[in-house]
Amino acid sequence: MPVDVLAISAHPDDVELTCGGTLVKLKRRGYRFGIVDLTRGEMGTRGTPEIRAREAKRAAEILGAEFRETLDLGDGGLRRGREEELAVIDLIRREKPRLLLTPYPDDRHPDHRRAGQLVTDAAYYAGTRKLETAHAAHRPQQTIYFSTFDFRRPDFLVDVTDVIETRRAAMRAFESQFHREGSTEPPTMLAQTIFLEGIEARARELGAMINVGFAEGFRSRRPPRIDDLVKAFEGSEPGF
Ligand SMILES: [Zn+2]
Repeated sequence: MPVDVLAISAHPDDVELTCGGTLVKLKRRGYRFGIVDLTRGEMGTRGTPEIRAREAKRAAEILGAEFRETLDLGDGGLRRGREEELAVIDLIRREKPRLLLTPYPDDRHPDHRRAGQLVTDAAYYAGTRKLETAHAAHRPQQTIYFSTFDFRRPDFLVDVTDVIETRRAAMRAFESQFHREGSTEPPTMLAQTIFLEGIEARARELGAMINVGFAEGFRSRRPPRIDDLVKAFEGSEPGF
C-alpha cells in the first residue's frame, strides 16, 4: 500500500526536529507516511548506531509512521553516486509517495545538503520509465524542503500547535542525543539544554508569523494551491 508522504533525511532525528509536527498532522487527517534515514548516524559523538536505531524506531512509533528504514550511505560524508541514487530511486518507486519531504539542497550541513540533492534528483529520475530498477516508474507530485538551521523565510507554514506535545515526545525519544540530567556522555552542541529550546523557539517564531502557537516552515519549487484564501489568513493581525 503506497504512502502519501515519504520524509527522507540524512540522520535519525532530522525529521523529528524539522517536520515531525507536520507528519503527525497528516496522520491525523488519515494520510500514511514513512521515514527514511539515509545514514545510521554512526559519526554522532553520543550514543551508538544500535542505540540510535532503537530511539529512531520509538520516535517513528510516536509520530505514527507506517515504517522507518535506514540506508547506510555514510554519516559524515554521505555518498550520492549512481549506486546510491538508484537505491533512493527504487525506494521512492516502491513506496509511491505523493509528496517527498527532504532537507534544503543548500543546507548548512553537508550531509543534509547531499541528502536534499540526492532526493531531489532521485525523485525526478524515479519517473523515467526506461530507467529500470526493481519497481515500476513513479514520480512524486512535489519535493518539499525543510530547514535544519536556516533562517530564510519559508514559502509556507504548517500550524502544528495542536500536535506540539507529540512532536516533543518524539524528540525526547532520542535520549542519547539530547540533554538528559546526570548523563555521562560527552558534551555536544545538541545535548545542551538550549538546543531543544532553540528548536522550539524556532517553531514559536514561525508560529508567530501566522498567529498560532507553533509552526513548521517549508520551501517548494512551486507554491502550494490555497483553496480558501480568506481562511488562509484567518486570525492574522489586521493590516499586519
Ligand atoms: Zn542531521
